[in-house]
Amino acid sequence: MGGYGSGRTSSKQIAEQCKSLDVNRFHRDGCLRPGSSGNWVWSRDGEEVERINYRAEERRLVLDYKVRVYGGDWEPISQPIRITHVDCNYGNKRPYFMCPGVVNGRHCGRRVGKLFSGGRYFLCRHCYRIAYASQSEARYDRMLRRANKLRMALGGEPGTAYLIALKPKGMWQRTYQRKRREITWCESQADHLFIAKYANILSKEEREMFLNLDIIAR
Ligand SMILES: [Zn+2]
Repeated sequence: MGGYGSGRTSSKQIAEQCKSLDVNRFHRDGCLRPGSSGNWVWSRDGEEVERINYRAEERRLVLDYKVRVYGGDWEPISQPIRITHVDCNYGNKRPYFMCPGVVNGRHCGRRVGKLFSGGRYFLCRHCYRIAYASQSEARYDRMLRRANKLRMALGGEPGTAYLIALKPKGMWQRTYQRKRREITWCESQADHLFIAKYANILSKEEREMFLNLDIIAR
């Protein structure tokens, strides 16, 4: 046994701004090693908000939890999520979730760093956007576009699944740090907007749980 809730690390240390799973966090804490299992806990102000069980297998992470959608009965869910490792700079490998979403009959399979939950399953933000698209996404799109433009201007790849590029030669450190902060800010705004918008279709209980969480601009 390893990971949160199994002694080594206090679950109280995890304060999420929403119910999301970050593959890098799992990786950092050794929770993706096959055989590793435990509880993943979301907390707010030091209070536990929710927890799910996870266990890592060869190339996948299995989540076990119970959900009650729209105030219905609690139902047990077991959701396997494929994990893939991709070469990144310096000969290292980075893990990614392969989104298990099936939206409008199409399997998603996107390589993502974060999965979100609001209903039954943990899916990537694209899946939730397609499933619950609305007109009010202009600002969300703008934030991500701006972040991607900045990311590419620094010589990196667009998308939050990638690390922000290293400082280009000849750029002032201060300028670089400012651009990094702007990217992070845009992306956290996008996350915030995403959650706020998605909250419209949540049940009352879920809405309370999500929206009472402190949203921290990082
Ligand atoms: Zn997806």
